[in-house]
Amino acid sequence: MKTYDVVIVGGGIIGGSIAFDLAGRNLRVAVLDREELMREASWAAAGMLSPAPDCPSAIPLVPLGRASLSLYPKFVGAVEDASGERTGFRTGGALEVICHGDAERELSTLVALHHGLGLACEPLPLDEARRMEPALGRDARAAAFLPDECSVEPRALTAAVLAAAASAGAALCPGVEAASLALEANKCVGVKTSAGETFHAAHVVLAAGCWSSQILEAAPYAPTLPVRGQMAALRHSGRPIRHVLRSERGYLVPRGEESPQTVVVGSTIENAGFEKRVTSGGIEKILSAANELAPELAKAEIIETWCGLRPGTPDQLPILGPVEIEGLVFATGHYRNGILLAPVTAKLIGEWIAERRTSLDWEAFSPMRFLRANADRSATA
Ligand SMILES: Cc1cc2nc3c(=O)[nH]c(=O)nc-3n(C[C@H](O)[C@H](O)[C@H](O)COP(=O)(O)OP(=O)(O)OC[C@H]3O[C@@H](n4cnc5c(N)ncnc54)[C@H](O)[C@@H]3O)c2cc1C
Repeated sequence: MKTYDVVIVGGGIIGGSIAFDLAGRNLRVAVLDREELMREASWAAAGMLSPAPDCPSAIPLVPLGRASLSLYPKFVGAVEDASGERTGFRTGGALEVICHGDAERELSTLVALHHGLGLACEPLPLDEARRMEPALGRDARAAAFLPDECSVEPRALTAAVLAAAASAGAALCPGVEAASLALEANKCVGVKTSAGETFHAAHVVLAAGCWSSQILEAAPYAPTLPVRGQMAALRHSGRPIRHVLRSERGYLVPRGEESPQTVVVGSTIENAGFEKRVTSGGIEKILSAANELAPELAKAEIIETWCGLRPGTPDQLPILGPVEIEGLVFATGHYRNGILLAPVTAKLIGEWIAERRTSLDWEAFSPMRFLRANADRSATA
């Protein structure tokens, strides 16, 4: 019989980070993944660490994003020490560039929004923006510098996090699919696998990304849905890009500054079900946004294209915390921000499981909100 203190379903950045935290608290932890570990959204991500909201519905997430960004230097330090692997963590800020519309008005709205949310954001004259980033294209009409933003290499980070969790004692179990939860009365006592095995545990953490909703007993609390994002990696020998560059149409994330330099460009936001397919229309869209930001990239070699499925939720907020079933905790639905939110998610879930308290208020992200919304709808029907 396989018995642990905690079984985590999902071996992406979220499951891995939670395993690293819990194993460090001397708990016996197993991470189950139905495939190879870290092959899904966490492998596909760009790696921007930006707590800025990309739409009004993301505003409630800003305090959580800021908290997670502030944990990042210590988090990557601990991961790199425990794993002996690098994570590609880079500080240095991002440039937000406006290429269309009433640029001056959009810039002042952007700056006011950031300041209102406690985020650093400095409007930049265009000649100053071009001094900071000589590859910036002529289409730029206004720019702002976001000095606190960082980036990381998600594939390197996730591999390092999982190696760190293993070195702290977590059991990594690729090729083990959670088919259902093992429930006794109102208690979750483990996970049943599709091979008919049961992993027994006092706590089960559901961190299965956009597939969380496919586990029947979890679906009412975690109505996750896949949101496809297509990406490309370019290699160029022009002027190195030093910052993350973002516009209303797309973004560039540099990996290192040596020549030839690799730059990751993205991304589409598509409701295409669970179909992971790179399309010519998707790639055309992200390359055209990249070439607008830095026209020299039109000469770059395309070295890789790929896509991933973000774990979306109906309200675009993550799903974090316990439910009315004792022993069951959710850590999913991180949508476009799972790389950013990994450290704070691991900290909150670790605190909850080990200490029955959390250092931040996470009520807004409770999985119970979906049940309450359904109950309200039924009452008014
Ligand atoms: C194109 C793209 C760009 C992105 N860019 C950024 C970015 O710049 N910054 C940022 O912060 N975030 C970004 N994201 C979002 C981020 O990648 C995700 O929010 C994050 O990776 C989610 O991590 P996860 O561990 O929850 O999910 P995943 O990495 O998808 O991992 C879930 C795991 O669960 C496993 N699983 C599923 N079902 C089962 C089951 N029944 N049993 C066992 N295992 C199961 C899967 O095999 C998978 O390995 C991006 C995402 C995409 C797709």
